[in-house]
Amino acid sequence: MTIVDLPVTAPVTGGPSLPQERRLVTPIPGPESRRRMERKAQAVAAGVGTTIPVFTVAAGGGVLVDVDGNSLIDLGSGIAVTGVGNSAPRVVDAVVAQVAQFTHTCFTIAPYDSYVDVAEALNRLTPGDHAKRSALFNSGAEAVENAVKIARHYTGKQAVVAFDHAYHGRTNLTMGLTAKNQPYKNGFGPFAPEIYRAPLSYPLRDGGLSGAEAAARAILQIEKQIGAANLAAIIIEPIQGEGGFIVPADGFLPALAEWAAANGVVFIADEVQTGFARTGTMFASEQFGIVPDLIVTAKGIAGGLPLSAVTGRAEIMDAPQVGGLGGTYGGNPLACVAALATIETYEAENLAERAGEIGAILFEKLEMLRDADPRVAEVRGRGAMVAIELVDPATGDPDAALANKVAAAAHAAGVILLTCGTYGNVIRFLPPLSIPDHLLIEGLDVVAEAVAQA
Ligand SMILES: *Cc1c(COP(=O)(O)O)cnc(C)c1O
Repeated sequence: MTIVDLPVTAPVTGGPSLPQERRLVTPIPGPESRRRMERKAQAVAAGVGTTIPVFTVAAGGGVLVDVDGNSLIDLGSGIAVTGVGNSAPRVVDAVVAQVAQFTHTCFTIAPYDSYVDVAEALNRLTPGDHAKRSALFNSGAEAVENAVKIARHYTGKQAVVAFDHAYHGRTNLTMGLTAKNQPYKNGFGPFAPEIYRAPLSYPLRDGGLSGAEAAARAILQIEKQIGAANLAAIIIEPIQGEGGFIVPADGFLPALAEWAAANGVVFIADEVQTGFARTGTMFASEQFGIVPDLIVTAKGIAGGLPLSAVTGRAEIMDAPQVGGLGGTYGGNPLACVAALATIETYEAENLAERAGEIGAILFEKLEMLRDADPRVAEVRGRGAMVAIELVDPATGDPDAALANKVAAAAHAAGVILLTCGTYGNVIRFLPPLSIPDHLLIEGLDVVAEAVAQA
């Protein structure tokens, strides 16, 4: 089947010059999106789901335009990927020029400058002024796997600790690191051995442990159940993403990092979701005062092109043998020039600062909502990575049904909104940093209305 018998009533050019407005010309989903959803069901594996059943034809700034001509407010950035916005001008120019030059050599066959440029940029931008190296991959999960490979090789040890509520991906090793069974792990075992789970700092739900207390609890468990002599690495998201935008209590991450350094354990920060200006600094680790040994990046790195990286201490990164790291597509030239253009955009447009401004609007609006509605237990996050946790006010129990109702109502009103959380009761806000204030505020008003009506 071709696009010929699937009409499109919308522009086909995206980017920031798209009209920055919420405009509904049909119900959501409209008739053309419905037809395509039926076609999808016949062609695409059922396990590949969709959050909002509208088919995209263009996106940019803070909107996504669908095949029916609806313009939706984007509060998700394709899960924190399009930080610089969809089809950001520098990214488009760089990719168009590169695609006409060469599309692939395999960096491990015949290298090219843009890969090394990205490595240098990552070495410069990530926390710490020690000597660093980077290696590039395709997805967040692939980079996490490589960080674990590197840590094991360097330490000569095997065990890896991940935390409650963690999300590290969907490949076999990263499924094992990920905490949540449904939908990520259910039926997909057996999982890789030598993965252990430790308790997190989760201020709303751990009885108010201080960061130091929560770290002591985790460290005691690690020492008693695994032993530092067997432990290659601790991997942790500085702010957990899929797990519910959980911000650990002050002192938790530094205490873990100190313990790791004192015990020959590689401290890996998974900044796949928190990285690249999202939280108000280039990396979230900076806000918690930690300098990870290895830092894993992906999502926001290349304006939507698939790229990921592991960056870290030179002596750790250089440990594996030549040929031990790589892959056919890792650091593809289109993705690399996109990353360079994306990083230039974050820096030239001060998007970390912009994330802080977006965060101020998010907190102001969402705290008003919390103050008016006891079902909103908490507003939390940093910069443009903010969430509300919804509960039954009588018991404090998670209320996933309410979160789903709010998301469905927002979608129907033309706002793309994502949920998350181990208990499915968290609504997360990850707008593109290119969103104009008026759209952000309008989107938040729609969400507030949806909460009130639910
Ligand atoms: C999304 C995510 C991953 C996995 O990235 P993919 O590109 O989907 O493989 C890993 N870690 C974190 C923290 C993520 O948010």
